[in-house]
Amino acid sequence: MTDLTGEVLEAGNPDYERARTPALPNYHHIRPRAVVRCFTPDDVSNALAYARESGIHVTPRGGGHCFAGRSSTTGIVLDLSPMNDVSVHDGTATIGAGAKLAEVYGGLHRHGLTLPAGCGPTVGIAGLTLGGGLGLLGRRYGLTSDRLRAAQVVLPDSRIVDCAHDREPDLFWALRGAGGGQFGVVTKLVFDPVPEQLATRFVLTWPSSRAADVLQKWQEIAPDAPDELSANLKIDARGATVFGTGRPDDFLDLAPATSDIRTMPYFELKQSFDELGELDPGPVLSRSHFFRRAVLALDDLGPGRELNFTPMGGAYNRTSRAATAFAHRSERFLVEHVSADADWVHQTWAQLHEHASGGVYPNFPDLHLADPLTAYHGENLARLKEIKRHYDPTGLLHFPQSL
Ligand SMILES: Cc1cc2nc3c(=O)[nH]c(=O)nc-3n(C[C@H](O)[C@H](O)[C@H](O)COP(=O)(O)OP(=O)(O)OC[C@H]3O[C@@H](n4cnc5c(N)ncnc54)[C@H](O)[C@@H]3O)c2cc1C
Repeated sequence: MTDLTGEVLEAGNPDYERARTPALPNYHHIRPRAVVRCFTPDDVSNALAYARESGIHVTPRGGGHCFAGRSSTTGIVLDLSPMNDVSVHDGTATIGAGAKLAEVYGGLHRHGLTLPAGCGPTVGIAGLTLGGGLGLLGRRYGLTSDRLRAAQVVLPDSRIVDCAHDREPDLFWALRGAGGGQFGVVTKLVFDPVPEQLATRFVLTWPSSRAADVLQKWQEIAPDAPDELSANLKIDARGATVFGTGRPDDFLDLAPATSDIRTMPYFELKQSFDELGELDPGPVLSRSHFFRRAVLALDDLGPGRELNFTPMGGAYNRTSRAATAFAHRSERFLVEHVSADADWVHQTWAQLHEHASGGVYPNFPDLHLADPLTAYHGENLARLKEIKRHYDPTGLLHFPQSL
């Protein structure tokens, strides 16, 4: 039997509890047989060999934020957080797959660079990139995965390979939008970063009585706005909030009750929105879907219920559907229903879903979907299944809803 290398933490070890616990409270009860803290690709390679030989389930973990708990298991969790280096050479960023977004933004900021990527300082760059990656610079520069130029991957047979457009091109294609825990364990990500610039930050609010008007206007403006404008909308019991980066002039016509508009370095802007990525203290259910038509009306939301609207369009939609595994290149916006009140989430999701496109963002996995693989991967599904058969013929890397 191959030996596990790295730092192996089992129950009883003082570091086990912290290492085993994922970010989302929904999955805190799952106790792995061991957490292997991986310092090198060889540690990952040995752990995959051990899993093959023992038949014990294994799953990689970056930031541990998966909505469906896919980086938790009663088997072996591969904790990649020790591999979190961020370096820049000749304008190219090389990032260890265990880095969290705060480490990525901080490391790139020292070089006057950044990446179009998400909110949430403790979200993992690996999980985010491998499922796409939406963020405030996305309408301008595309998905996080659209900036990926190469990756180092430990395959299910324990081989360590590099992939890029000209090396293992099918694997590289699949990683950009469908790569989370499916084809191999990524140990290094190489990106083409973007310049960090001064940016306008805005937060505009309206009371609940105006939420329906704001929603209607948002649907008309946000998905077709110039690339520089990224305007997110949140509606909850307190009212409507439009926030983001760019010039929000069109929303000022709606006479917000409060408006906070400031210019600042992009790094500070990003940090100022950190609280958006904060986790609820208890379990919540989140379901989402993409929309191509502006058709949404609104019922009153009670306390603890939240609808989040993310604009698509712009650079997201200028890459073709077949260019990478990310299939959602014709969507106008994404709606997320979030609450601890699961009945409300299911009910409002079902009400809106008849107007939705059918696509679901792979990074917001939803265990209640009737046909999840079509929802996540659309017309790219057949090619992804072939690539899965090639790189993981025995299905070593699996979870509910995996390919
Ligand atoms: C608070 C919060 C804020 C968020 N904000 C955003 C946002 O702004 N934009 C956005 O697009 N998404 C956002 N998300 C969703 C986020 O993109 C996904 O949850 C993502 O999968 C998290 O990645 P992770 O590494 O933190 O999670 P993990 O649970 O560690 O991993 C997610 C999946 O990827 C796999 N994986 C992890 N590391 C590797 C690896 N090295 N190689 C192969 N597979 C791997 C895991 O096995 C799992 O299947 C947010 C989620 C939360 C909870």
